[in-house]
Amino acid sequence: MSMDVEEIYKEAGALLEGHFILSSGNHSNRYLQSAKVLEDPKRAEKLAVELAKQIRESGLQVDTVCAPALGGVLAGYELARALGVRSIFVERKEGQMQLRRGFEVQPGEKILICEDIITTGGSAMEAARIIEELGAEVVGFAALANRGFCTRSGSGKEPKPECKLPADKPFFALADFEFEMYKPEECPMCAAGSEAVKPGSRGN
Ligand code: ZN
Repeated sequence: MSMDVEEIYKEAGALLEGHFILSSGNHSNRYLQSAKVLEDPKRAEKLAVELAKQIRESGLQVDTVCAPALGGVLAGYELARALGVRSIFVERKEGQMQLRRGFEVQPGEKILICEDIITTGGSAMEAARIIEELGAEVVGFAALANRGFCTRSGSGKEPKPECKLPADKPFFALADFEFEMYKPEECPMCAAGSEAVKPGSRGN
């Protein structure tokens, strides 16, 4: 790896250290605030160029990058720019992922689904399903960060049972961020008397 992705996340304030409640309800000593890493367009571009390089080197053909809104939109746009392809996004309307705003896909169009971060891949799979229902082809998945439930192509590791991405399609990411996770009742930080915080819950 030619780039210290973890260091870039830390510098951006996107990798927090402390005592956090994850969306799963588990506690962890680290937390990824993914949007922060894309706050600086130059940094976003640098990350996307690196991800695009991996995708190009794999030989995968991509016509269009599609991101699930809201989290994936900036990463998807920057990746599309780095690959020199079209950028679209799907969004949730009344609970259902949909392609709106005049975006269209063509039968057989090769679509790469892009997220800022892949945790279990749930939103990415919702995006993939709607794209396939519309007749286009989902050729793979990409994310800046992989939370370690799914495995990147070529890593040789087995995905965890929580991973929802299909095993027969490539998954590209810049880095794995595997955190220690604890059930609240087994959390050593709680046991030491510290109080867990939910990032992002302050002021929004
Ligand atoms: Zn705790």
